[in-house]
Order: sequence, then C-alpha cells, then structure tokens
Amino acid sequence: MSTEASREKFKAYLADKGLRVTNQRLAIFDAAFAQTEHFTAEELLVHARALDESVSRATVYRTLPIMTESALLREIDIGKNIKFYAPGRGNLTQQAQVICLDCDKIFEINAPFMEWYGSTVSSKLGLTPVSQRLQVSAHCNAFQTTGRCPHRNN
Ligand SMILES: [Zn+2]
Repeated sequence: MSTEASREKFKAYLADKGLRVTNQRLAIFDAAFAQTEHFTAEELLVHARALDESVSRATVYRTLPIMTESALLREIDIGKNIKFYAPGRGNLTQQAQVICLDCDKIFEINAPFMEWYGSTVSSKLGLTPVSQRLQVSAHCNAFQTTGRCPHRNN
C-alpha cells in the first residue's frame, strides 16, 4: 500500500471511529510515515511537532493505538519498557527482526525461509498460518571488541 493510500485509510478509520480528521492527527501520520527507522512515541512527538507545533503529547499517545489497531503501524515489543513503532507496509511474514542489545536498533531482514517454516509447522497440525515472527537478540561484534556500537545514534 502506498503512503497516499495509507493516509486515506487512516482518514477513513478516524471517520469510522467518529473521530475528526484534524491537522494534528495528519501531522502524526505524516511524521510516522516519513520515518526510515523504528521510532518511539516520544520520537514521533518530536517529528510531528516539526510539522505542526500544536501537536500535543496526549494526541500522539491517543493516535498511536488507533494506527496500530488499523494495522497502519506495527508495534514492536523488544522486551523492554519502551515500545517501538514502524509503518506496517506490506506482507511481513517473510521478515525477521534482529535487535542489537547494545543500542536497541531493530534490523528487519528478509528471510524467505520464514514462509516455508510457518506453513510446514502449521500444516503438521492441519492449520494455515496467518502471521508469525522471528526475533533475534544480538550483540554487536564491533561493540565486543571496540566498546562502541556502530549502529548507535543511527
Ligand atoms: Zn548496536
């Protein structure tokens, strides 16, 4: 789905929920879809305020669940107290996440074997897979030797 189609879907979803399409909500959408890295709610607030300084923290925290419910954003739990988000573009059943424990950077790696894996283990039970995920926690090799994570600060 293109960003423009996603933006229309967001507007339709707001209308469906009886919520108004405000400039603030659109700024949050635009800020989220402009990101190339995974982001936190606080980071999204900063980016959305760059587009529209009237965006409040409360609006960001109220809009995020709406965007995850509608699958426009994916929520990524890496087992910490903080949630990360990314635009939910396309079919992700063939992607694996590798998380750097030194800097919390989340890499999404194409892993075509995932589809085979999901359908193989499900079909043994007479089931059809709907979604699956593989999450690998890892240390930077560079961090181990130099004490600096090359991924830190993006
Ligand atoms: Zn790292």
